[in-house]
Amino acid sequence: MAVIRLDRMLSGQGVCSRREAGMLVRKGAVAVNGRTARNPEQKVDPCEDVVAVNGQPLIYKEYLYILLNKPKGVVSASSDPRQRTVLDLLPASLRRRGLFPVGRLDKDTTGLLLITDDGDFAHKLMSPKKEVYKTYAAKLDGPVGKREAEAFARGLILKDGTPCRPAVLLLPGDGSNTATVRICEGMYHQVKRMFEAVGRQVVELHRTAIGNFTLENELPSGKCRELTEEEIALLR
Ligand code: URA
Repeated sequence: MAVIRLDRMLSGQGVCSRREAGMLVRKGAVAVNGRTARNPEQKVDPCEDVVAVNGQPLIYKEYLYILLNKPKGVVSASSDPRQRTVLDLLPASLRRRGLFPVGRLDKDTTGLLLITDDGDFAHKLMSPKKEVYKTYAAKLDGPVGKREAEAFARGLILKDGTPCRPAVLLLPGDGSNTATVRICEGMYHQVKRMFEAVGRQVVELHRTAIGNFTLENELPSGKCRELTEEEIALLR
């Protein structure tokens, strides 16, 4: 890995701002390989050098991969002048510049949302060409059946004429007004518009999976955690 300035490394890891990093170094709170650093411009190799702040070694992470169980009422954006965003839900320990949500869930949609600063990773998950299926549990204003499932499988045409790739519509076994949908695209309001195209309204929408990665019940609504190495590998 390329060497970078010490103050840049500290701010890039979300420890503090670049200015605060400079102050921390100047007051002797930062050590590199056991020696107190004095110069914020000192070059470090983030993968090789052991950097410690106030005696605590920093575990360098080039990228962050965060799983959020998105609640209703927050927008999937990196910033918004008026509304709370999914990034506002992150604890201070997981905040740093460059994070963004991987794709968008509507303000009233809940469930699995990934947040990262790794652009390649996000692109692979979101590009329709990569055919990573996203799974949604939908509550509807009425029942759907075989006819709708066949229309989804053929590839729907939305009301505005936009064609969709073939999608999977799994019907509930109990005749309730629910269904599970799998799509590999991420057009604006896509699932809602797909149901509209077959005459149904979505009342509630919850994303349960991206590819083989499933949101288990372990994570309460509004809470997040870092993905494990195994989980990141599963999504790659
Ligand atoms: N499709 C929608 O309509 N809304 C979402 O939030 C995600 C997929």
